[in-house]
This record gives sequence, C-alpha cells and structure tokens, in this order.
Amino acid sequence: MRETVDILGVAVDKISAGSAQKKAERYLRTPGLSVIFTPNPEIIMAAHEDPAFKEVLNSADICTPDGIGVVYASKMIHNPVPERVPGFDLTCGLLQSISKTGEGVFLFGAKPGIAETAKEKLQEKYPGLVVSGTHDGYFTDDDNTRIIKEINDSGAKLLLVCLGAPKQEKWIYAHKDELQVQLAMGVGGALDVFAGNVKRAPQFFIKCNLEWLYRFIKQPSRLRRFSALPKFMLAVKKSIKS
Ligand code: UDP
Repeated sequence: MRETVDILGVAVDKISAGSAQKKAERYLRTPGLSVIFTPNPEIIMAAHEDPAFKEVLNSADICTPDGIGVVYASKMIHNPVPERVPGFDLTCGLLQSISKTGEGVFLFGAKPGIAETAKEKLQEKYPGLVVSGTHDGYFTDDDNTRIIKEINDSGAKLLLVCLGAPKQEKWIYAHKDELQVQLAMGVGGALDVFAGNVKRAPQFFIKCNLEWLYRFIKQPSRLRRFSALPKFMLAVKKSIKS
C-alpha cells in the first residue's frame, strides 16, 4: 500500500530511502513497467502550473521527495515524509545492486558522448555493472521509434531517462506502453554527474541539506530555477489556508 502526501496536487511518497530502494529492486523483478519520478520543489511547482504534467507525475508508482524543500512542505502540511530521498542516491543504490545480479541498465539522455563516458565511469565504480546501451538526449520525435527499439532490444531491465524535467517524465509517460524495461526513472542531470562533467556537492553540503546552495554557487546561471523555491513554499502555505 502506498502512503503519500498531497503537495500542490502531487502525490509524494512517505517513504524512506531504504524502502524506496527495496521497492525499486522489487519492480526490477516484476513483469510490466514500473515508473519512479523524483520531484523536487521546482518540478512540483511546474506541475502545479501544468495540469498535464501533474497527471504524468501522479501516474508514477513512486514519487520520491527529492529536495529538502519537499520535506519542509510535507511538515507544513502536517503530513511529513520520513526523509529526503534524492533520485541520484536511489539510482546509485540500484546500480550497485544490479552490478551484483547482472540486470542491465540503459543510459538515455545528456549531450552526445556523455552517456558513453558515464558508462565507463560507472563500470569502474560498480564492477560487474551491465550497461546494456546508451543514447544521447538530443533527438526529434521521428527518432522515438528507433530509440525505443534500441532500448527494448538491449534487454535492459532498468532505464535511466536523463532529459531534464518535465521532458523526461513526459517522455516516459508517452511511451510507457511501448517500453519493455521493468523500471524507468527520470533522474535529470545524473549522467553528467556520473560522467564527471558536473560535480555532486561535497558530503558536508549534502548532510546539512545545503546541496541546492552548492549547486547555486557552482552554477549561478541556475538563479531563475532557484527562484521556484520561495514560490513553491508560498504556494504550499496558500494551499493549506484554502
Ligand atoms: N537534456 C537532454 N535533452 C534535452 C534537454 C536536456 O538530454 O533535450 C539533458 C541535459 O543535457 C542534462 C539533463 O538533461 O544532462 C538535465 O540536467 P539538469 O541539470 O537540468 O537536470 P536536473 O537534475 O536539475 O533536473
């Protein structure tokens, strides 16, 4: 049974990182496609303003609370999630797990060449990891049939879709009936981090829930995106009153 908290109309799972990983591992061995999204405040805010995107997020099997803002919002609503469950950490846990079982992963997204570099780096980090295939994230609608065939023919069980939000979530939703993988996840810039192009915040920032601050310092051009956070908090506050 899923236990969720409604944050601006998005059902976010009240799930610990450990339970999310166990569930995800179960999905890998369950016939049919399961889907995990990892909404942060920016993504929930976008869904709040785009009903079609909200429907896409709410179609997932799990929406993990990715970002301390989501944890605070659930507290404001008096229906707290147990902890922050970053999509990146969940992905690492899953890759570690399948490196032991031999189930394959397909890396889809990021600029040309990044997924291949991520593949090499991941296979160093997780010896035994089977990367069944890779494809960059710059394509046209005409390429979809070919890309889906590549994914299905690769025999991968896990598909990481890294096209940024909301493109990755909408892509998975649009093609859910054609995909033959067991689990698809939308995990944004993860391939850039795996490839070593973008650095994840040092542990200190992660532990203090300041990963967002580190990303901002490193990429001040993200300012417009960070402005979604106060907007999100205000919208949550307003939703409690109404
Ligand atoms: N991207 C892509 N295709 C597109 C647009 C973006 O593959 O049409 C990739 C982009 O290269 C980057 C990722 O999607 O690797 C988005 O990264 P971002 O940091 O924006 O994602 P976040 O983790 O913040 O959601």
